[in-house]
Order: sequence, then C-alpha cells, then structure tokens
Amino acid sequence: MRALILKLAHLRAVENFVRRSRLFRGLVRRFIAGDTLEEALRVSEELTQKGLLVTLDNLGENTTSEAEAHAAKDTYIGMLRAIAKRGIASSTNISIKLTQCGLDLSDELARSVLEEVLDVAAEHGNFVRVDMESSAYVDRTLDILEAVFQTRKNTGTVLQSYLYRTPDDLERLIRIGMRVRLVKGAYLEPPSVAYRRKRDVDRAYIQLTERMLQSGIYHAIATHDERIIRHTKDFAERNGLARDSFEFQMLYGIRRDLQEALVAEGYRVRVYVPFGDRWYPYFTRRLAERPANVLFILKALFRA
Ligand SMILES: Cc1cc2nc3c(=O)[nH]c(=O)nc-3n(C[C@H](O)[C@H](O)[C@H](O)COP(=O)(O)OP(=O)(O)OC[C@H]3O[C@@H](n4cnc5c(N)ncnc54)[C@H](O)[C@@H]3O)c2cc1C
Repeated sequence: MRALILKLAHLRAVENFVRRSRLFRGLVRRFIAGDTLEEALRVSEELTQKGLLVTLDNLGENTTSEAEAHAAKDTYIGMLRAIAKRGIASSTNISIKLTQCGLDLSDELARSVLEEVLDVAAEHGNFVRVDMESSAYVDRTLDILEAVFQTRKNTGTVLQSYLYRTPDDLERLIRIGMRVRLVKGAYLEPPSVAYRRKRDVDRAYIQLTERMLQSGIYHAIATHDERIIRHTKDFAERNGLARDSFEFQMLYGIRRDLQEALVAEGYRVRVYVPFGDRWYPYFTRRLAERPANVLFILKALFRA
C-alpha cells in the first residue's frame, strides 16, 4: 500500500487533484505549519511554551537551477536570523535538504550553500541538520558532510534504518563525532538496497539506536513508534544514561499526546515543523506512512 501511494503520488493528474481538492486541505494543515516563516515561528513558539524543542523545515527539494539554490540559501539564512532575533536559538534549529541547495546540479554548489548557511548558524550559536533523501543521494550527502564537518561542527545528518548500508554509515559518523538523527526512512527504495518488511526495518532501528546511545554523542531518535520509544527509554535507563543525553524527535501533527507525555517525563523532544507552499512531496510521504489517512479521504469521496 505504501509503495502504491508513493507511485501514484508521482502522477501529475493525482498531484493536480490533491492540490485542488478541498478534501485534502484539513490533512495538509495537520502536517504543515503554514505557508510563511511567520506562521511557522508562531507554531514553534506555541510548541516551545509546552517545553518542546523545534526544528524548522522550509519545504522544497530537487532545485533545478543555481538561482533556486541561492534562493533556498537566502531563505535558510533568513530563518536563522529570525530565530536569533526572537531569542529562541537554544530551542529552535533548522533542517535542510541538499537537493534544495543544488545537489542535482553539482556537489560543489550544494557544499558551498551548506557552508554559507553553517557560517551564519555559527554566528548565532545555532545548529543545522541535513535531512537524508533517497538512497541515490546518500554517498554524496555523507561525503559533503564529512568534508564540511572538518571545519564546521554545528551540523549533523540523518540515517535511515531501512537501508542495509546504515550500520557502516553510522560507524563512519560516530568515528568523526557527528550527531545523527535516526529515522526508519520515507522513500520508495528497491529491495536491493532497503528492507521492505516493517519487522526488519524496526529490528534494524533498535540495533542502531542501541549503538547510538552507547556512543556518547548527543543523537536523536526520530520515531512515533511507541514500542521503540519504550525500548529506547529502558535501554538508556539500564545503561545509566541521563534523560538529556539524547533527544526524541517527531513530526508536527503526529502523536502530540506522546510528545507532551515524554516532555512531562523529563525527556527532550524536538518537533519537526515544515512550512511553505511546496508541500506536495512531503505531504505524500506522510500519507504513505499511514494508509488509514488515504482510506479516510477515499471514504469521504465516495460518500460525497
Ligand atoms: C523528526 C523527523 C525527521 C525525519 N527526517 C527524515 C529524513 O531526513 N529522511 C527520511 O527518509 N525520513 C525522515 N523522517 C520520516 C521517517 O523516515 C518515517 O517515515 C516516519 O517517521 C514514520 O515512521 P515511524 O518511525 O514513526 O514509524 P511507523 O512504524 O511508520 O509508525 C509508528 C506509529 O506512528 C504513527 N505514525 C507514523 N507516521 C504517521 C503518519 N504519517 N500519520 C499519522 N500517524 C503516523 C502511527 O501511530 C504509527 O503506528 C523523519 C521523521 C521524523 C520524526
């Protein structure tokens, strides 16, 4: 079902339908904080008042021109300055995508955009997380990050437990001391590179989490999976790790109850808050994760 939704989402007719249909509007609003940075900052402030941390994401990926990559850079820098101006850099950082920085055009362009963004973040004592995209980009993303990390330590990245290669990538990043956000993985990948069965993805996730927690680096466990969260808490407890020696991360609009419950227990929880009008690819990945979301819409369609 997940694969089917991701494949259908690529069809132009489906995209046009989803963008125009009123049926989807409520769901889009559930997952996306708004069209503008101002709206996203308002949402962030509401979250931080509840004791949550935030990472802001300006939606967009796969830029096709140098001008677009520079425009993305200006947006990221604007986000970092707005965060600093509001005095919330200790609770709010940003997440970016290298394909938004021009990775499809060249590694050099993406790297130079990343470096400029990191320099501005450093001026404001802030941190920039580089999201991980489909498996075609993993090598280049890690190579760029490793090179940049030699001189700029205020960055980290994401690894996906569905990829067979991830245990090796994790060792590579632990060796250099880079912070990792662990996720299950949201893209449609072939069985030659990624586990298909949830059971395998979850088992790999748990093994990777244990390795991360033992590394002594401040990592992020990004999942809404209650079973894995419970396992993470137990493992940390058994190994005498402080509750603030890692953080949980979740997506805006998903399991708010769980986010707040973890904060109440003394854990650090960061919410990924996306904003902007280029929400379609992000939104379809969220639908694919939970086919019940799509079934709900289809039922409404047939009832109408
Ligand atoms: C902070 C953060 C950053 C991320 N960054 C990346 C990234 O850089 N690259 C990448 O490939 N992926 C990223 N992801 C997405 C990730 O790969 C998964 O696709 C996503 O988190 C769903 O997996 P899960 O771990 O919650 O587990 P699942 O087993 O999919 O879900 C567990 C439970 O969570 C709830 N849930 C999960 N998804 C939804 C949903 N869409 N709607 C409603 N309920 C839901 C349900 O209750 C479900 O039973 C990120 C996720 C988070 C939380």
